[in-house]
Amino acid sequence: MELKAPRGTYDVLPDQAKSWNKLEENAMSLFERYGYARIVTPTFEHTELFKRGIGESTEIVQKEMYTFQDKSGRSLTLRPEGTAPVVRAYLEHNLSSSPLPVKLYYIGSMFRYERPQAGRYREFWQVGVEAMGSEDPALDAEVILLLVHYLQDIGLKDLTLYINSMGCRECRPKFVSEIRKELGGYVDELCEDCRRRIEQNPLRVFDCKSKQCKSVLQKMPLISDYLCQSCADHFLAVKDFLMEVNISFELNPYLVRGFDYYTKTTFEVVSGSLGAQNALGGGGRYDGLVQDFGGPPTAAIGFAIGVERVLLALSKERGQGSQPVKTQVFLAALGAESRPTAFGLLYKMRTEGISADMDYLGRSLKSQMKLAHKRGAIFTLLLGSDELAKGVLVVRDMETGLQEEVPLDEFISSLKKKLQKKEQDSEENDRLLHAQP
Ligand code: AMP
Repeated sequence: MELKAPRGTYDVLPDQAKSWNKLEENAMSLFERYGYARIVTPTFEHTELFKRGIGESTEIVQKEMYTFQDKSGRSLTLRPEGTAPVVRAYLEHNLSSSPLPVKLYYIGSMFRYERPQAGRYREFWQVGVEAMGSEDPALDAEVILLLVHYLQDIGLKDLTLYINSMGCRECRPKFVSEIRKELGGYVDELCEDCRRRIEQNPLRVFDCKSKQCKSVLQKMPLISDYLCQSCADHFLAVKDFLMEVNISFELNPYLVRGFDYYTKTTFEVVSGSLGAQNALGGGGRYDGLVQDFGGPPTAAIGFAIGVERVLLALSKERGQGSQPVKTQVFLAALGAESRPTAFGLLYKMRTEGISADMDYLGRSLKSQMKLAHKRGAIFTLLLGSDELAKGVLVVRDMETGLQEEVPLDEFISSLKKKLQKKEQDSEENDRLLHAQP
């Protein structure tokens, strides 16, 4: 057996950990600011959930699910997306009894058996939100705004927001039957998959990447001409709310997302700095899904962002490469007799909120200093038998090389002050740097 990660998967290595943490931390703090609470659902669910939720005729259900039987013969599936599990949990735990809309967010890995390429994996991470229990167009605008706000907040600039309305269960069937009829006249020009889609679900043709199929689509009617009055009014109101916050968007009548459950507003944000897989995130309304799962009629809307693509776009836009985790203080203990005291001091610093580390390989002083540099230490503390006898330690400023003796019973408060001063200096430097023309 080859000891390699399976095709389409990858490892997040220590030097990428910081960027990953930042994405998650930003999501948690921003989503909570908008009133969303975290929900965690299992990584696998009953296969039926996705078949019913995403739709039997979709690519995901037909070709991409990791489905297996457990030892009791149940058919289970590694979740390919986050919405169906959240809706299942919403119904199972009667979350609708809390004030509506119920606003939730999740962070987790998803699994799809797709052909791997840059920005496309078989296990990938999504950060997503779901807001359930309101059809207010202001909620659509809030969810779209949150998606854009989040991407901007983590530093992305080259973003385009596309929006569309897919109509509802009243007006869409008319459009679907019209499209089916029209596509029928171009069978010879469509790819094999799309020929099959004409009967099964002609809207899937809008997802096709083939050039031929795209050119056929140019000749097709547009959903915007088929919206009922209520869907048209709803979409108009969504756009008005978005304009109120100056979020720029482009109307894209071809934006028909890949799951059966979407209704009305759909949206997607793409990055100008990525290649073929340029969609950073997207979502839409799914006003019928809760009912499809046996619940009461419940309007709902959500989005999912692909974490890997966001990181890729960040590194393309800002050349933001790896960012190793840094240690503020390195404690260099000299000689075996100082190590127990050093170990105690290390714990003390950590309980006081200072990130600190020491050597565990019996290195010489010179090697410990090198290690302190590599770990990005701002200060190194030197503790040998002389310092131990005097009840002090030496604090070395790694930038200036200046050293100062500090009594052991004062070192925490002294270190905190020094670290605070360094932080202020670096903020001031940043400010001056950015103030320059
Ligand atoms: P979807 O759940 O298909 O609407 O996708 C939402 C977002 O998840 C997309 O915009 C991508 O950023 C990301 N995504 C979807 N599929 C993959 C995949 N196979 N690998 C990596 N990211 C993906």
